Amino acid sequence: MSFVCRQCGACCRIKNGIVRVSDEEIKRIAAFVGMEESDFIERETELAPDRRGLILHSRADGACAFLTPDGLCRIHPVKPDKCRTFPHEWTNPDSATICPGLGEG
Ligand code: SF4
Ligand code: SF4
Repeated sequence: MSFVCRQCGACCRIKNGIVRVSDEEIKRIAAFVGMEESDFIERETELAPDRRGLILHSRADGACAFLTPDGLCRIHPVKPDKCRTFPHEWTNPDSATICPGLGEG
C-alpha cells in the first residue's frame, strides 16, 4: 500500500468515528493537555457504543474534539494507537474514499 498523508484531517472528521482510548493513553493525553486524569475522563471522553471502555469525545459535527480548526491533531505527540496506526496497521472498507493519501506515493 502506498501512502502519503496530506494532513487534511478527513480521518478525524468521520461521523460516528470511534477512537478508543486505553487507561495508559488517557493518562498520557491528560498529562499532555495539563488536566487531572479524572477531569479528562469526565470532559474529554465518553462511553463507547458497545459500552466496553472509553472513546474520545466528538464535537456536535462528529469531528474529534482534538482536531484543530486548521485540521491538525492537538495531541499529536501522544495521540492514541488507533490514530497512530492508521492506515499502516488497519483500514476500513471505505478508507480509500475518505483518505486522499491512500494510493499515493
Ligand atoms: S486524536 Fe488526533 S489524530 Fe486522533 S482522531 Fe482526534 S484529532 Fe484525529
Ligand atoms: S485522511 Fe488520510 S491524508 Fe487526510 S489526514 Fe487522515 S491519514 Fe492523512
